[in-house]
Amino acid sequence: MSPPEDKLVLFEIRHACSPCGRRLTANPLTVRFLSLVTGAVLIMLSSAMRRGCLNRPAEAVTLIEVLVVIAVVVVSLLFAVATHDHRTKSPTTQCSNNLGQIGVGLHAFATDHGDHFPPQVSVGNGGSMEFIGRGSPAAHFQTLSNEMRLKVWICPTDEIKKPANNYAAFDDRNLSYFLSMDAAPTNTQPQFIILAGDRHLEVAGQPVRPGLFTFSSNTPVSWTRELHRDASQSRGGVVLFVDGHVEFLKHDRVVAAVKGQGLGTNRLAVP
Ligand SMILES: [Zn+2]
Repeated sequence: MSPPEDKLVLFEIRHACSPCGRRLTANPLTVRFLSLVTGAVLIMLSSAMRRGCLNRPAEAVTLIEVLVVIAVVVVSLLFAVATHDHRTKSPTTQCSNNLGQIGVGLHAFATDHGDHFPPQVSVGNGGSMEFIGRGSPAAHFQTLSNEMRLKVWICPTDEIKKPANNYAAFDDRNLSYFLSMDAAPTNTQPQFIILAGDRHLEVAGQPVRPGLFTFSSNTPVSWTRELHRDASQSRGGVVLFVDGHVEFLKHDRVVAAVKGQGLGTNRLAVP
């Protein structure tokens, strides 16, 4: 859904921003304000001409009017560029950053726990192994609570999940990402093993329900259209692999990623 003010856009200044690739769009309020200023200046000029304050030929006044209009257009273009914030990131970039941070957190945990991720370490030793049967990723991710902000667990395109107020209240309602129960830092070819990712998985046209989801290399895993709808025409989502790298995968690429996994089966806890 577009915000209502989009309908009021008089015109757009389309220009690709070189550092971040985003399209620059003039703020509609800015455009309207500058249009008003232009109108006011022109009215003042023509009134001054009528009163004879400007003792010049009609052609010279017309030239002044043209120059004023050109100046206002240039200022509006500069304003549009100046107000563009390079720190604004696309939802897919924000989601990839979230999963990248989760990967760093999981590997930091593994470094402190004998090269094991939380589901491979018992609760008594700071892990979450006993919670695997619940199929809920929250208890596993909660082992990283010391180093993670609560917003990290939410995909910016997820309209259902909201950040928890604190870790005492943290559960699957505050999570957009699934977590593998079987992926491990010691996997051979960790660049192909799926560790975590966006929750909107589907198999053979049916959304994967919350809980423990087991897939093998033959399972036709794809995405629903629930998250990342605007990222491209086709369905897509972000996946974190065991080696820590993050990728936005479209439908065919996620099928290939699942097929290429070295694991016999991979169990995912889906929120
Ligand atoms: Zn996402």
